[in-house]
Amino acid sequence: MPKAILPFSAILLGEEEIEEVVDTLRSGWLTTGPKVAEFEHAFAEYVGAPAAVALSSGTAALHVALAVIGVGPGDAVITSPMTFCSTVHVIEQSGAHPVLIDVQPDTLNIDPEHVARAVETTRREGRNVRVIMPVHYAGHPCDMDLVFEIASEFNLAVVEDAAHAFPARHSALGDIGAIQDHAPGHAVGFSFYATKNITTGEGGMLTGSPSFVDRARLLSLHGMSRDAWKRYGSGGSWFYEVQAPGFKYNMMDIQAALGLHQLNRVEQFELRRREIALKYSEAFSEIRGLQPPTEKGSVTHSWHLYVLRIVANELTIDRDGFIRCLTDRKIGTSLHFIPIHMHAYYRDRYGYSPDDFPVTLDSFLRMLSLPLYPKMTDSEVDAVISAVTEVALSHQA
Ligand SMILES: *Cc1c(COP(=O)(O)O)cnc(C)c1O
Repeated sequence: MPKAILPFSAILLGEEEIEEVVDTLRSGWLTTGPKVAEFEHAFAEYVGAPAAVALSSGTAALHVALAVIGVGPGDAVITSPMTFCSTVHVIEQSGAHPVLIDVQPDTLNIDPEHVARAVETTRREGRNVRVIMPVHYAGHPCDMDLVFEIASEFNLAVVEDAAHAFPARHSALGDIGAIQDHAPGHAVGFSFYATKNITTGEGGMLTGSPSFVDRARLLSLHGMSRDAWKRYGSGGSWFYEVQAPGFKYNMMDIQAALGLHQLNRVEQFELRRREIALKYSEAFSEIRGLQPPTEKGSVTHSWHLYVLRIVANELTIDRDGFIRCLTDRKIGTSLHFIPIHMHAYYRDRYGYSPDDFPVTLDSFLRMLSLPLYPKMTDSEVDAVISAVTEVALSHQA
């Protein structure tokens, strides 16, 4: 029988999670109930946030954050082209204009050096730049001290796409998810999609100040409020007031039941991810033609992804060839990401060409993501290392 391929991603779910979901089903609470409230509190406490609201996805968290800020037509939002499409979709869905900024060559995070000029240019074009959405690519925190500096200079709200960055830390500012006292608003969106560092199948979380999160909670459930009933008490229990045309973005108790157990195991997950990433980097840093990812001294990486870049002129094969050789050796890989400006919709709508963001383009052409998840055994990790090493050594220029 042919050897099965080592999958790029696999979920580590224990019996406890399974039992908890069964218990939740027996409790009769299927939709948003006590488990969701418990998960929100536990998550907020973990990252040191004043408040959190659990949502149906990471995308929902980002979308509702823009709605709380009141982003709409005529506005512009700054983000990175090196991200998943939904970061930019929510800007489009809000009716606003995305402004993409090229990334730093080492971390592939948005380069704060270019932001000031982009804000000025965009404002001259008559658009109101309201928000910056930094993406913590692969789980490496952005230079948030610089981002906040620029945000306060230009009076921008900050919505972090932390889909990869749980748990991750910035040594001066604390955990990603902690909230800074920032004038036009600060919120952080997380994803619990099946491949992310902790999962609820589908799900997300938004952290922010208590007032930001209250508004997000209202907008995430049809814009319905029971506060008027609580205030006046005369309307009866059937009474609610619709205060905005809100979304249907709430999380279910079944999802939160999974999330609570995953959260309990996050330290164990974090250690294992780091252990595997360091083992990869130790092996690959010696090999000509391979560029392992970096971790700056000022941050703690969540190691959501291990993105290896090949050095084109050191090898006789290109990235696609490298991936094919790994597939032949039964190693699953993935790619994060096809840059936003190269997707048909954004290319056609904004007339981008591939080299509009040269650092993003260069890295895209050289990158691949290797398997990295707590469920991997030591021998699976070794199998990845030998396959990558073999492919690189047998194709030296
Ligand atoms: C996964 C992901 C999202 C979206 O999260 P969902 O929970 O799948 O909606 C957003 N941004 C980035 C960078 C992601 O990787």
